[in-house]
Amino acid sequence: MSELCVSSVSELFGCNVFNDAVMRERLPKDIYKSVIRTKTLGIALKSDVADVVANAMKDWAIEKGATHYTHWFQPMTGITAEKHDAFITPAGDGKVILEFSGKELVKGEPDASSFPSGGLRATFEARGYTAWDPTSNAFIKDNSLCIPTAFCSYTGQILDKKTPLLRSMEAVNEQVLRILRLFGNTTATHVTTTVGPEQEYFLVDKKTYEQREDLVMTGRTLFGAKPPKGQEMDDHYFGAIKQRVSDFMKELDYELWKLGIYAKTKHNEAAPGQHELAPIFTTSNIAADHNQLTMELMKKIARKHDLVCLLHEKPFDGVNGSGKHNNWSLSANDGQNLLDPGDTPQDNLQFLTFLCAIIRAVHEYAPLLRLSAASAGNDHRLGAHEAPPAVVSMFIGDELQSVLDALENGTTLKTAKQLEFEIGVDALPNFRKDTTDRNRTSPLAFTGNKFEFRMLGSSDSISCCNIIMNTIFAQIVCEFADELEQAESFDSALKALLVRTIKEHKDIIFNGNGYADEWLEEADRRGLPNLVSTVEALPRYMDEKNVRMFEKFHVYTAEEIASRTEILLENYSKVINIEALTMLDMAKKQILPVSVRFTREMCESVIAKKAIGLSGGAEEQLAVQLDKQTTQLYDAMQKLENTLVLAQEYPTDAVARAKHYRNVVLPAMDAVRKPADELELLIPASDWPLPPYSELLFNV
Ligand code: ADP
Ligand code: MG
Repeated sequence: MSELCVSSVSELFGCNVFNDAVMRERLPKDIYKSVIRTKTLGIALKSDVADVVANAMKDWAIEKGATHYTHWFQPMTGITAEKHDAFITPAGDGKVILEFSGKELVKGEPDASSFPSGGLRATFEARGYTAWDPTSNAFIKDNSLCIPTAFCSYTGQILDKKTPLLRSMEAVNEQVLRILRLFGNTTATHVTTTVGPEQEYFLVDKKTYEQREDLVMTGRTLFGAKPPKGQEMDDHYFGAIKQRVSDFMKELDYELWKLGIYAKTKHNEAAPGQHELAPIFTTSNIAADHNQLTMELMKKIARKHDLVCLLHEKPFDGVNGSGKHNNWSLSANDGQNLLDPGDTPQDNLQFLTFLCAIIRAVHEYAPLLRLSAASAGNDHRLGAHEAPPAVVSMFIGDELQSVLDALENGTTLKTAKQLEFEIGVDALPNFRKDTTDRNRTSPLAFTGNKFEFRMLGSSDSISCCNIIMNTIFAQIVCEFADELEQAESFDSALKALLVRTIKEHKDIIFNGNGYADEWLEEADRRGLPNLVSTVEALPRYMDEKNVRMFEKFHVYTAEEIASRTEILLENYSKVINIEALTMLDMAKKQILPVSVRFTREMCESVIAKKAIGLSGGAEEQLAVQLDKQTTQLYDAMQKLENTLVLAQEYPTDAVARAKHYRNVVLPAMDAVRKPADELELLIPASDWPLPPYSELLFNV
């Protein structure tokens, strides 16, 4: 990597992006204007305009060294997909010319038969199509011009994560504007949801990684005794960053900046080997694209530094796993952050209206938010006293709580300045926003001017939780608007609505310690669902109420939700199946042979000692322990194999199969791991076939 001086960062930023500035420079004025209209208002591009844009894009890309273009999309695999086509077209004389038409820019037709569709698309109609999303800029990656696109089946059913996200953002826009108008706002014409995702990850040494089949095949360690030192000293969090890691982070920043990604904050996380990167927030749709690219680049650049980036939610047992904090807010194009309490009573009241809408949305649709973070990997974290519990609740802080209490009870409120206010429509206290939230245990915390959703797993796409957050919010805002638009007196109707909402939905608010067991009991008393794992959570996608809502806002159809549920459940079972097979492979080929050999060595030593009249001593005791654990391991392996055979009994029922993996296969895997980890402690390090935790965690 060439060293860059600081002054060149601004030049470097976005240099591989076909952004507004490039378009303004390279497109005729009227064409540029229609592209901007398309970007901001969603008006389709005319084909002659698309031709001009495509040509300018191609020229720009070729100047940057690109030879290919690809529609870049986000199928239900969790990662991005691309199929590259060269710009070349035969010129007839044995030479080629480089071409790229508007048609190729706007629409692609990849063979979709191998992407998950959850039964939506029969193989005989394998074609799907991709459609350009002009709201997200094209960019260059590995000499290819990448065009962010949505992905649909030929019959128009959505097969990706971008389309529903865009639709949910549109729902928020429409509904929130209704409320803004009721508050007399005539300046805002568009409202977007904004997201800043904080991304956690682990780095391990590449050579060490390659010696672990479990890490290579599944991204997490399936075996491994606890090291003498874990994270108990808390000496890693925000600690000085090691040189190799720092070099990696520096290169990552540069590469992200080139793609116009606002990588901002980087630091060491709580666990050894764990780090975090946070970008500056942007529009949800772009944040989702950028987070996908960030994860991809993290993995790629780590390799260049002889490191491997682990995005799995729980790579190491007994050590904190990795999550992703989804910071969510709303911004109107007249410059307001709608979740900022604001300085005037009127702004405060508008803020309280949106806050109450969120409270009600989260209370009524808690299972949806829960399932947005459900995956086999994240099941190891949620509810495990290191990440938020599986119960969805929200934290609003003491200051805001006292405002809601006063509003609910019609009492006066003392502000920080000890001024008394009566909470009414025309005289709301100018409350200070509480930006000091250090409550890290809440699944959804208000942090000054945004909500931070903390359940998400580190490898998850942020699309699903934002689709859900946006749609449930739009749903309640729509109900609010329906009620308020009919009201004779807006002021009194609003006050009544807010008071009623607080009374009916305050049970979702919890400002205490979410890791405490007492909270689970309390949550149960409040009737808040505790969907402990993916298999309890995912089927709730199809609750009638949820389907009705998604259909109402054209985010998903019932079939699309059913297909998504099926894909996610299937995925869950597949992940655990691969883990179990990997475990068996390692146990059979690596752990068992070493254990058997070392047991025999000890037995031979005992025989030899006894032959000359000595006692069996330490060797004899070791042999007994080794034999016990080895036998347990062998038995557990047989049982695990059987559970996998039994899994075949549910060929068509995705829920039943996922339940089998959760309730039968996972415990059988634990039973294999336990004696194996004991054996690791008995057998000399020089003989043990796998690099130990201490090496994985402290060797970078
Ligand atoms: P912390 O670790 O205290 O949560 P960070 O600075 O690591 O704080 O992350 C905060 C994240 O919240 C950043 O990604 C930031 O861009 C994002 N954020 C700030 N304001 C908004 C907003 N209005 N909408 C969405 N995200 C926001
Ligand atoms: Mg955070």
